[in-house]
Amino acid sequence: MPTVYQTEQGTRYLKEPGVVLISKPSVDLSGMDDFLGDFDCLRYLDDPGGLTDGAQLCKVAGQLCYMSFGPKRTWNQDAEIYFDNVKAQAHGSILEHANYTFLLYGISRSLTHELVRHRHFSFSQVSQRYVGGSLLRFVERPEWINDEDLHAWFEERIDRARHGYEYLTTILEAHEKKRNENLVKLGNSTEIRKKVRQAARSLLPNETEAPTIVTGPIREWRHFIEMRASCYAEIEIRRLAYRVFEILREAEPILFSDYEVVELDDDIHVVNTPYRKV
Ligand SMILES: Cc1cc2nc3c(=O)[nH]c(=O)nc-3n(C[C@H](O)[C@H](O)[C@H](O)COP(=O)(O)OP(=O)(O)OC[C@H]3O[C@@H](n4cnc5c(N)ncnc54)[C@H](O)[C@@H]3O)c2cc1C
Repeated sequence: MPTVYQTEQGTRYLKEPGVVLISKPSVDLSGMDDFLGDFDCLRYLDDPGGLTDGAQLCKVAGQLCYMSFGPKRTWNQDAEIYFDNVKAQAHGSILEHANYTFLLYGISRSLTHELVRHRHFSFSQVSQRYVGGSLLRFVERPEWINDEDLHAWFEERIDRARHGYEYLTTILEAHEKKRNENLVKLGNSTEIRKKVRQAARSLLPNETEAPTIVTGPIREWRHFIEMRASCYAEIEIRRLAYRVFEILREAEPILFSDYEVVELDDDIHVVNTPYRKV
C-alpha cells in the first residue's frame, strides 16, 4: 500500500500508485451439463486439471467455437499449449470473456488522461465537480522525488494549488449564494457546490490525484500492458502498467506466460511478447 505523505502545511500526496484487484471472474460450468450431455460430452466437466477461473472461462469459450468437448480435446493440463496457439493465431476474442476490475489510486490526472484512451475499458473516476478540496491529494512524479530542489518546488506548488483552490471556492461560493438565494432558501446547496467546484477545479494541476476504477477484459489488459509497460511509454503509466501486469500474471499465469520481463536502466521494468495484440 503506498504511503501518504504531507507537506508542512498539511497538503497530502503520494509517490507511487496503489493498484488493487477488486474483481475477477468466478466460473461454474456445472449448468452446461444438459447441453454437453446432448452431444455425449458430459465428461468434459470431469477434467481433473484445475485452471484459474479466467483461463477456464476463455478456454471453454474457445472450445465452444469448434465444439471441442470430446475426449480428443485439449485437456486442462495442456491449457498452456492451448493458449499459446490462441495467441499465435491472434484468436484473442475469446480473451474478452474474462473481466478484471482494479481500483487505481496514487495516479495523476495526466496519467488518467492517457488511461482513458483505451476504449475497451470501463471507467469510474472521482468527480472534481462533486468532491471538494478537503479530499484533495497530489502525486509526485519520479523525476522530482530524488532531486532536492524539484521536490521542494513540488511541495510548494501543491500547497499553492490547494490554497488557491480553497480561496477560489470561498469567493465563488459567496457569489453563487448571492445569485441563487432561492436555492439557498430551499436548502439545495449541492447545486451551488457543483457550480463552485466545476469552476474552481480549473486551477488544479495535472499532478492532482485522480482515483479511478477500471474494468476490462484480458484482451484489453494485454494490449494496455504491451502499449504502456513499454520503453516508449511515459514513466508514470509505465510503472502502473507493470504493477497491473504483476498482479494479473499472478492471478492468471497461463494467460500471460508469453510475457518476458526486461529491466531498463532507470530501474523500471517493461514487458515484451512475441504475441502482441492478440
Ligand atoms: C508511447 C505512446 C505515445 C502516444 N502519443 C500520443 C500522442 O502524441 N497523441 C495522442 O493523441 N495519443 C497518443 N498516444 C495514445 C495512442 O494513440 C492510443 O490512443 C492509445 O495507446 C490507446 O490505444 P489504441 O488506440 O490501440 O486503442 P484501444 O482503445 O486500447 O483499443 C485496442 C484496439 O482496438 C481496436 N480499436 C479500438 N477502437 C477502434 C476504432 N474506433 N476503430 C478501429 N479499431 C479500433 C484497435 O485495434 C486498437 O488498437 C500514445 C500512446 C503511446 C503508448
